Amino acid sequence: MAIERTFSIIKPDATRRNLTGKINAKFEEAGLKIVAQRRIQMSEAQAKKFYEVHAARPFYGDLVKFMTSGPVVVQVLEGEGAVLKNRDIMGATNPANAAAGTIRKEFAESIEANSVHGSDSPENAAIEIAYFFAGTDIVS
Ligand code: ADP
Ligand code: MG
Repeated sequence: MAIERTFSIIKPDATRRNLTGKINAKFEEAGLKIVAQRRIQMSEAQAKKFYEVHAARPFYGDLVKFMTSGPVVVQVLEGEGAVLKNRDIMGATNPANAAAGTIRKEFAESIEANSVHGSDSPENAAIEIAYFFAGTDIVS
């Protein structure tokens, strides 16, 4: 498998509980390198645009409110098969279904406040990375 990059967000439920370091340790222990990282307060417009694909879903409004409820850490993770590897490290969307040892199993509060976002394909990873980072922000 090739070296890839994926986009990650440590969500407000996790920054509120000071879990950035513990979550980053999961990425690094699994062999992903954090090649860009910035703590930001997402605006409503940014969150709406980022989750546009879910605009028709009943949870969209709540999700936008949640993602703007506190700071998030936006990141680029790099490594062998980074997109799928990160989805494995994260665990299932609903923490009730997440496997042991995954971030969501260990840290998520609910299906909404599930501690992390990770891109679901290399194509979306490229779009999401470009939404938050310039090429010069990313250092392998
Ligand atoms: P994932 O983050 O695992 O890729 P989705 O892309 O399906 O999951 O959903 C995006 C985010 O929307 C989830 O991470 C979660 O925060 C929220 N979400 C998904 N499904 C629900 C739901 N049924 N109720 C509330 N929030 C949800
Ligand atoms: Mg998704």
